[in-house]
Amino acid sequence: MQNIRIVLDQTSHGGNIGAVARAMKNMDLYHLYLVNPKDYPSEDATARSSGADDILRNAQIFSSLKDAVADCQYVIGASARARELSLPTITPREFANDTLALMNINIACVFGNERVGLENRQLALCNKQLIIPTQEKFSSLNLAMAVQIVCYELYTAHQFDQKHAITATDESATSGEKESLVEFIEELATEVKFSNPGQPKKLSVRIRQIVSKSNFTSSEVSLMRGFLKNFKK
Ligand code: SAH
Repeated sequence: MQNIRIVLDQTSHGGNIGAVARAMKNMDLYHLYLVNPKDYPSEDATARSSGADDILRNAQIFSSLKDAVADCQYVIGASARARELSLPTITPREFANDTLALMNINIACVFGNERVGLENRQLALCNKQLIIPTQEKFSSLNLAMAVQIVCYELYTAHQFDQKHAITATDESATSGEKESLVEFIEELATEVKFSNPGQPKKLSVRIRQIVSKSNFTSSEVSLMRGFLKNFKK
């Protein structure tokens, strides 16, 4: 997530900046960009960062939002309110999922000032508006809490993606090799009367599913087949 930055536009309270740094570090995000912060650096910011002061120290400061996002290809503006300038809207989860396919471009998620939020001229720099779903009549979250939710979605989307990424290599078993293993298991299952003769197909489908979603290499498939062959003997 090195390509994702959190941008805070004209934040009034240093304490919120500190709380944002903490929220980011909890979720493994490190690039904080501040546009004209009003009360910064401040003791409040350091205190509320609770140990994420490295993020504060490395924060980059800009005098305009335009400069803070100049090198970004994908810019999201977080705002609870529908503005005259209607941008396509996106939820934090959708945004997080979008970023999975965009590892090689710079991405900014921009948050507005505590009192006025993001105005049309700032949203005009954004590709989409991010809205955190809330109840209709009380939709404005505290700045750091809004950042926390977005960072959490980014973190979980990227974790999940890494765990489930299928990393096929030259050594990965081919579909044919996997199929030969499945057929062998089916044969054995019939022989030892493990499959239900009334519904033999059900077991075949489940075994095929288990083997297909595995990341077996060719030699692992051979090993399994060899083992089962011996077992059969
Ligand atoms: N009073 C301001 C809100 C300020 S809250 C207004 O009405 O716009 C500070 C920032 O937190 C907002 O600018 C926005 O970036 C973010 N934020 C708060 N609640 C949000 C929500 N429900 N959806 C998206 N962003 C939100």
